[in-house]
Amino acid sequence: MNLILMGAPGAGKGTHAKDIVARFDIPHISTGDILREEVAKGTELGTTAKSYMEAGKLLPDDIIIEIIKKRLQEDDCRNGFLFDGFPRTIVQAEMLDKIADIEAVIYLKCDDDILLKRLTGRRMTEDGKIYNIYFDPPPENVKVYQRDDDNEETIRERLKIFYDTFSPIMDFYEGKGAFYEIKGDDAREKVFDTILTILNIM
Ligand code: AMP
Repeated sequence: MNLILMGAPGAGKGTHAKDIVARFDIPHISTGDILREEVAKGTELGTTAKSYMEAGKLLPDDIIIEIIKKRLQEDDCRNGFLFDGFPRTIVQAEMLDKIADIEAVIYLKCDDDILLKRLTGRRMTEDGKIYNIYFDPPPENVKVYQRDDDNEETIRERLKIFYDTFSPIMDFYEGKGAFYEIKGDDAREKVFDTILTILNIM
């Protein structure tokens, strides 16, 4: 199953992606996660990525496209994949169209007020557990950190870029009959049920 999960930053793509890949045994491919790993490892790609990411800007399409082509050749993509944070531009979507058939694009729609609170309040542990100081505060003895790009100025830039680039991508997949919009601010279980309903009727 070849899937894309779309949503503004903070829409919960990472959380819902975990539920989907566990059910369908496909890899969760997040270009943001791949780039953060490169930054952490201090590679040449990581050094380039860091400046874009800290400013909340998108990396050039050719860099992202190379990452995706390489990733899709790995063995675990045999039965499909779930993209999160990709494609982010129409150029990326058109490139993807040449190398894979996308069965469903699920868009998690959320109110901006909620997105801002989720992002400014987001804190994570080294092993990837996500808390939120407003909705799900970390216990006192748990060490958490904040993503460099989860500050209000960068968040506003990331949201603006998301909305600026979203419509052509939506139109592209709507034209293919593969676009599904769902309410992303419902409870995790309810969102997952809705996603399963969509995937079962495909
Ligand atoms: P994310 O974790 O998906 O919010 O991505 C974090 C940052 O990584 C973004 O703000 C961009 O700077 C960069 N990034 C991630 N995915 C892409 C992509 N598909 N195209 C361009 N830049 C990306």
